[in-house]
Amino acid sequence: MQISRTLKNIRYKKKALLPAPRTMLQVIVLFLWILGVIDESPLLLAAVAIISFFLGPVFCGWLCPIGFLQDLVGKLGRTLQKAFKRSIPDLPAWTKTIRYIVLAAVTLFMALGLGHWGEGGSHGLLFMKIGFIIIAAAGVLWPRFFCRTLCPIGAGLGLFNLIKIFPVKRQEKLCRRCGFCDSCCPMGVPLSAKPNNRNLACISCYRCLSVCPAKDALIVKTKTRSEGRIL
Ligand code: SF4
Ligand code: SF4
Ligand code: SF4
Repeated sequence: MQISRTLKNIRYKKKALLPAPRTMLQVIVLFLWILGVIDESPLLLAAVAIISFFLGPVFCGWLCPIGFLQDLVGKLGRTLQKAFKRSIPDLPAWTKTIRYIVLAAVTLFMALGLGHWGEGGSHGLLFMKIGFIIIAAAGVLWPRFFCRTLCPIGAGLGLFNLIKIFPVKRQEKLCRRCGFCDSCCPMGVPLSAKPNNRNLACISCYRCLSVCPAKDALIVKTKTRSEGRIL
């Protein structure tokens, strides 16, 4: 009994190391972004689209500097909530539809040639700075607030969840129904509610895999053994 518990703990700790490469990558991309090395080159956009086709919005979970900054302020928020022994109620469900309205509006504006993302002169820059501060403050209260409610890029990339080849799957028989996957998800995906995660909000960060205490309860595969084919 003691041995099996120890083995479970070791396995849990090994899995807990998984987020390290993601954080390293996020830090590197953030620095490259600050240095202006990363731009919207067609090659980069094509690479993001191809990876998203296989794994979903990996750009959001592993690369986007704005997403990473929100992860950092989200961590600050969690620390403050623990320190003050308070928990903030989650965002209402309707807020997740806003980003699709923003996506539709941005697409329409661009199609009509009425402007380009980021344009607007000095006033535009001022609005962006104010918006950035508001979003960062909201991100302290709700993890990934901007991604979950406003970002049109995330809304567009999220559509890849419907067709991605390797979704996160929960194996009912192995699941302990502890709810760790739900509570750790920065995007509020109710992973324990369904066996097959094709939620549009998922950003393929795989944080859920690293906290799950049950071996193979969460897997990233095209089909589970019970479905007949495993890649
Ligand atoms: S939703 Fe937007 S801001 Fe958030 S990680 Fe994705 S692209 Fe970046
Ligand atoms: S963390 Fe793992 S064991 Fe717990 S509910 Fe989620 S899938 Fe099931
Ligand atoms: S469901 Fe898992 S992979 Fe998807 S966003 Fe939530 S924690 Fe990340």
